[in-house]
Amino acid sequence: MAERWLLQGATVVTGAPEHEDLPCGDLLIEDGLIVAMGRGLSAEGCQVLPLTGKLVMPGLIDTHRHTWQTPLRGLGADWTVMDYLAAVRVKLSPVFRPEDLHAGTLAGALEALDAGITTLVDYSHCISSPEHADAALQGLQDSGIQALFAYGFAPGPEPSPAFPSPEHRFADARRLRAGPLSSDSGRVRLGIALTEMQVPWEQSRAEVHTARALGVPISLHCSAWPVTGPSEVEQLAREGLLGPDLLFVHCTFSGDEDLARIANSGGSISATPESELQMGMGFPIVGRALRAGVRTTLGCDVVASNGGELFTAMRLALQSERGRANALAGLPRRLDLKARQLLRMVTQDAADAIGLGAITGSLRPGKQADLVVLSADSLNLSPLGAPRDAIVMQAHAGNVESVMVRGKLVKHRGVLLGTEVSAVRRQVLRARDAVLERVGGMSALLAEHARLEEHWDLGAGRAPGATVSR
Ligand SMILES: [Zn+2]
Repeated sequence: MAERWLLQGATVVTGAPEHEDLPCGDLLIEDGLIVAMGRGLSAEGCQVLPLTGKLVMPGLIDTHRHTWQTPLRGLGADWTVMDYLAAVRVKLSPVFRPEDLHAGTLAGALEALDAGITTLVDYSHCISSPEHADAALQGLQDSGIQALFAYGFAPGPEPSPAFPSPEHRFADARRLRAGPLSSDSGRVRLGIALTEMQVPWEQSRAEVHTARALGVPISLHCSAWPVTGPSEVEQLAREGLLGPDLLFVHCTFSGDEDLARIANSGGSISATPESELQMGMGFPIVGRALRAGVRTTLGCDVVASNGGELFTAMRLALQSERGRANALAGLPRRLDLKARQLLRMVTQDAADAIGLGAITGSLRPGKQADLVVLSADSLNLSPLGAPRDAIVMQAHAGNVESVMVRGKLVKHRGVLLGTEVSAVRRQVLRARDAVLERVGGMSALLAEHARLEEHWDLGAGRAPGATVSR
């Protein structure tokens, strides 16, 4: 028999332009899909969730997170991007074993669900062997989240790599596409995370061609610091490789020409304001990208240093951009960037950016029931003014009471369902202790700055103020 839910009497923020928000509405859900929205819907044959005083909104979508780094939580509060690259990409990444990747990915995905994130782009760039890939994927599958498992092509600096060449990695991605990730309608789907384009261009080109042959979305770190050569966007444009399947991450140092190229190709940007502002990766591109007509979304990025929820990311993106614009304007007459635009960036626009816009990102009949119940009766949300604005300006992850992914309750009344959180915590703690022990402890982490130049073109090694302008 079909599973039917009636969510009753909530303030419904649809996030869909063609469907107005409902001050007191019902949602009827059948077999994972929203089948009706309105007032006074029949509860016949339904499990009923009475939601008076609550707010129902589309599930949030994080378009850039390195979920595997969850065991490193709290280590990077004061890291610059150089510290991060030295500690995580050079030193720690090679000592992560499959079980550590599983623990980190599972705990990180659960953290995301707990904070109302129903869909995640997991930029999984610690894939040192097929076993690592399987373990990370298993973490996503075990969590219950909907995800794009963006298989990382970037090699770690392992002394004896299990993948001796890029072609070996490509073959492993093809293995997943032919096997567990062959479906384009599964809860976890395949994506590709490219190596930073500071490897020989032939490799980058081969990575893009491999991803396109797999027919999956592609993401890449892009213009997060100044480089001496042509930008990633420029290189892709020269060979006609831009396209709507590309999700560019950061773009803080992208020029107007590159933003126009991304906009014209239908590509998208994921800005990660918290890591960008902290680490010296330039100024979040949100305002400039929106003005250039680029579909712009948000991600949490480095959960070793910053928070893993999108309410904070929305406010940081909004207020940092307002701060920049206001500083230039003197006493501003109006605020160009509106709060509700940020909500769209973490819902419908994010879904569109990864090819899922037809099935998730807003609440309307025909879409998956990917949704969040917020405690609109909490002190920090009462009295509820304009609901879309309140979500951006006042809500926090502690307001997330219940979460549904594809019509399945994964969190209810504040508790994650179907998972033993204390066991996951023990698992991720073990992973943290094991990887730190393998590198000789915290004090050894930042000793690798000198090796950074072997892997990345860090330009002048400092962020110019050039992008902090109109
Ligand atoms: Zn990243």
